[in-house]
Amino acid sequence: MPSHPPLRYLTMFLLLAALVALAGFGTHRVAQQLGIAELQTTGLHRLDLYTASLEREIGKYAFLPGTLGLERDVVELLRNPRAGALQPAVNNYLEQLNERAGTLSIYVIDAGGRVLASSNWRRDDSFVGEDLSFRPYFRDAMNNGNGRIFGIGTTRGEPGYYLSSRLTDDGRTLGVAVIKVSLEQLEKSWTTGEAPAMVSDENGVVILGSVADWKFTTLRPLDESTRSAFDQTQQYNRRALKPLGLRELRELDHGARLVSIRNDGPEMVTVYPVSGRFLAQSRPLPGTPWTLTVFSHLEQVDNIAHSRAAVAVVAAVLLFVFALMLAERRRHLKDRLAAQQALQQAHDELERKVDERTADLSAANYLLQDEIAERIRAERTLRAAQDELVQAGKLAVIGQLSTGIAHELNQPLAALRTLSGNGVRFLDRGDLATTRANLERIAQLVDRMGLITGQLRSFARKSGGRLQPVALDGVVDSALALLEPRLRQAGAEILRALPAAAPRALCDANRLEQVLVNLIGNALDAMAGQPAPCIELSAAAVDGKARLSVRDHGPGLPAETLAHLFEPFYTTKPGSDGLGLGLTISAGIVRDFGGTLTGSNHADGGAVFTLEIPLFDESTVND
Ligand code: ADP
Repeated sequence: MPSHPPLRYLTMFLLLAALVALAGFGTHRVAQQLGIAELQTTGLHRLDLYTASLEREIGKYAFLPGTLGLERDVVELLRNPRAGALQPAVNNYLEQLNERAGTLSIYVIDAGGRVLASSNWRRDDSFVGEDLSFRPYFRDAMNNGNGRIFGIGTTRGEPGYYLSSRLTDDGRTLGVAVIKVSLEQLEKSWTTGEAPAMVSDENGVVILGSVADWKFTTLRPLDESTRSAFDQTQQYNRRALKPLGLRELRELDHGARLVSIRNDGPEMVTVYPVSGRFLAQSRPLPGTPWTLTVFSHLEQVDNIAHSRAAVAVVAAVLLFVFALMLAERRRHLKDRLAAQQALQQAHDELERKVDERTADLSAANYLLQDEIAERIRAERTLRAAQDELVQAGKLAVIGQLSTGIAHELNQPLAALRTLSGNGVRFLDRGDLATTRANLERIAQLVDRMGLITGQLRSFARKSGGRLQPVALDGVVDSALALLEPRLRQAGAEILRALPAAAPRALCDANRLEQVLVNLIGNALDAMAGQPAPCIELSAAAVDGKARLSVRDHGPGLPAETLAHLFEPFYTTKPGSDGLGLGLTISAGIVRDFGGTLTGSNHADGGAVFTLEIPLFDESTVND
């Protein structure tokens, strides 16, 4: 479904943002976790290393306080504190031992908490005689046999590790031997060149630190009661014990956690970062209430995670762009396919329509063919009807001529009868010459009769209407010959105005003769009763046409007749004289020739009928 473009862009933007965020955060997270896991491994090694070295260092002194119980003078002094004679010897012994062991101080306290002898007996601030019953290492040793405690000296304010042991004699508590080890001695045991490390005591106070400023800071805030207890025991000799500024961020497995250390103080010059986010790993130091903590700065891990995340973001964007391009390409292809399909559909549709139209067309064609065939049939029928009509018209003319012809034949018949009768008599007489003359005369008469009937037969013949070159004078002759009896009977004069070489027309001679017989017959009818009927016949080639005219000297054509001249069944002749078809048939015949028949009044009186039919063009035949 095509979405609204701005909506589409918004969706794409949100998608990209989600992808980028996912890739960025995901990669960052994974890279960080991997980095932290690596740091954890390294940190564990460091923990192992530092624990081992600290244990070794502390272990060196662990038995030292206890061994003082083996020293006779010490035991004696404790047994009998008032016998002060032994005190200098013990003081000396302790002084020497302290020097050899490299410890800060060694001293012996009686069961009441008073210092009986001390390695620092020479100094003004010697412990000798002091009451240290309030010190935790004393109490711990008295109660549990051993005391291990970090503390700051009450006299000189020197921080150190106090190891104390209860000294007994036959089950009787004599006192407590104490060794104070300097922190520096312990610090020597570890090299913390790569990352910070610290040791905190049971109170969460940093007692050892690879960063100087961390010392005597607290890992957790101290409440008032703890502080007042510290004041009482003077464990930290009233040090300020500021908080380190360590904040727990997240607990990880194997005692590891993410912390942040704030650096409020002045900028320190260190080989490694001492503030920021760290991976902190802690482990209790065996034999002590202390906890060793190593810190691994997360800066590098963060940097790597950041750069990996950046790479992932770029890759995600590239991937997105690639996917977008792919999608766009697919869409383009789909569009093209759709367009192609649409085109194909249109093409198919077009083809279907063309097929349909072709079918329609061929159906129409069939109809047309049928119609044409029908028309041809109708034409043929019409033509046949016309032919019949022409023939009927012709027979009508013959009918009109029949009286004249019969009269024409009667005469020779009578002559024949007389001649043949006479011929027999002359033969009987033996007058062969006259017989011969009679027979010759008979033969002539028969010939003449044959001529007349021949003309009639020729005229009556049904013509096919085939167009042929026809000499006009021959046709005029035939028509006149046929009308001969009528002409003679009417006493009509024929004026022929035909050129020597009369034009030849392309027509049917028989039918043209029929037309002429009609026209001349009408002219004779029109002039019936006139004293000197006269008909003028003329033929000429005019404007590429053969022009043939028949003019009479009758009354001419009245307007009424002119209007209906060629209409079928129009006649002005009375009774059965006229059928009113003569001119209609004649005009039809001439039209079939490709010509015209017109009737009009001659300027000098009488009617004139003019035929114009195509001339026979010899060049076409020769072609
Ligand atoms: P019909 O001769 O049987 O009457 P036509 O068609 O030949 O039929 O002639 C139609 C009519 O035209 C005639 O009745 C006559 O009135 C008129 N007509 C024909 N020829 C002439 C002519 N030469 N002079 C005067 N009238 C004519």
